[in-house]
Amino acid sequence: MEIINNNSSGDYHIHSSTLSDGMNSIDEIVIQAGKLKYNEIAITDHNQKYLNSYNFNANTHYSIISSGRWKNIHNDVHVIFGVEADLLNETGDICDNIQNITPEFIVLSAHQKIYSGNASLIKNGYLNAINRHGSKIKLLGHLCSQQFSDYLNPKDIIEIVSAANETGISLELNCANLVNNKTYENNLRAMLSCCKSLYINSDAHTLYEFINVRNEGFKYLKCNNYI
Ligand SMILES: [Zn+2]
Ligand SMILES: [Zn+2]
Repeated sequence: MEIINNNSSGDYHIHSSTLSDGMNSIDEIVIQAGKLKYNEIAITDHNQKYLNSYNFNANTHYSIISSGRWKNIHNDVHVIFGVEADLLNETGDICDNIQNITPEFIVLSAHQKIYSGNASLIKNGYLNAINRHGSKIKLLGHLCSQQFSDYLNPKDIIEIVSAANETGISLELNCANLVNNKTYENNLRAMLSCCKSLYINSDAHTLYEFINVRNEGFKYLKCNNYI
């Protein structure tokens, strides 16, 4: 298993208040990333369907960011603007835009409130999404969350991870979920047993999480002899 982002290289799943439901602005996150000595981060705010379903209002036009009017004036951290896309149904439809703009860095996750297909067929949803959207998806976010653990068993996880491996899509150890007891550990073990390429991400919605939860992820991997 290759770990893409070691302890100090960066964090690729972070939410901001500028574009979605994080508690801190893009600038606050970037200043903190500098203090953490990260080389690179990806701000991966929620897609439009997710924002609409929770009535979150954007604080700015995404075009201000996509047209390059925002620049990092604080430090040398390279900032990628991505999106946490949502899996919508078992046919593998996804929503990957924010204000009709689809960023290049796509984390694909499933959330109970947004997935409107047949939950018992969610494995097919993942497999179809991987097949249809391919390596345009960079990684699968919190695949082992408890949200769908009634519908995904370790065998299903291995099937999804194998398809991701073949397609060049990475997996994620979601450290906020790990710390907040939202992980279904049997599925996590199945994922780690066969995953080729892994991101260790915070999924931070607060600076506290941004600073702390990835350390817990590395501790978990060490304690269980994955690294
Ligand atoms: Zn999520
Ligand atoms: Zn997230």
